[in-house]
Amino acid sequence: MIKIRDLNKSYKMGINYLHVLKGINLDVEEGEFVAIMGASGSGKSTLLNIIGMLDTHDSGLYELDGVKIEKLNEKKAANYRNKFLGFIFQSYNLISFKNVVENVALPLYYQNVSRKNRSKIAMQYLERVGLTNWAAHMPNELSGGQKQRVAIARALAAKPKLLLADEPTGALDSKTSAEVIKLIQEINDEGKTILMVTHEDEIARMCKRIVRLKDGMIMSDERIEQVRL
Ligand code: ADP
Ligand code: MG
Repeated sequence: MIKIRDLNKSYKMGINYLHVLKGINLDVEEGEFVAIMGASGSGKSTLLNIIGMLDTHDSGLYELDGVKIEKLNEKKAANYRNKFLGFIFQSYNLISFKNVVENVALPLYYQNVSRKNRSKIAMQYLERVGLTNWAAHMPNELSGGQKQRVAIARALAAKPKLLLADEPTGALDSKTSAEVIKLIQEINDEGKTILMVTHEDEIARMCKRIVRLKDGMIMSDERIEQVRL
């Protein structure tokens, strides 16, 4: 599903370049559940953003689902994102002036699904994350854990092949984190491929494979016995 070879990324900082990803090699097969770990500033988000086509690499190869991802124009990249990818962020990124079911339905709008079907499908995913009764509420009426479950429902509604999560439990207490990760595990059990950035060991152990980054390089990459909740 993902093939990355000798991938490099630098950011221009004034007259200097900050070399953030230094020759990354990574393969991810369908159905995997991968934790990307590393200290703050090690390049985790940069890598996830390149995989998610929110950012571009400078050199090397990146193939997603057999398609070489190169300097795509924004429209093409947006198309691929809508078709292939679901995102979950630490800060939830819900639309504050839309209610819960409208938030979940949003990616379907970009897939040209009819209004009636959008609501119907969005309700199915709200049920999946246990928030049926919250459909008409606004995001600011929800707890952090509930907001993240809405974000997960929204990510799933578009039926992505790949789910990308950047510190999805970073703003949650440990009990709520566990509930959110349990939900993500179940989604992986159903066959969804998941890449999750985290700097917490306890969270990473609930994945099936841990990739460790240090200063923009992969230090280790190992399959693990998944901790179940
Ligand atoms: P992590 O997610 O592991 O904390 P990041 O990938 O966010 O690390 O960042 C890696 C390095 O790249 C950091 O030093 C960060 O300051 C820098 N960086 C990230 N994004 C940008 C950007 N858009 N412009 C300049 N520097 C950036
Ligand atoms: Mg980060």
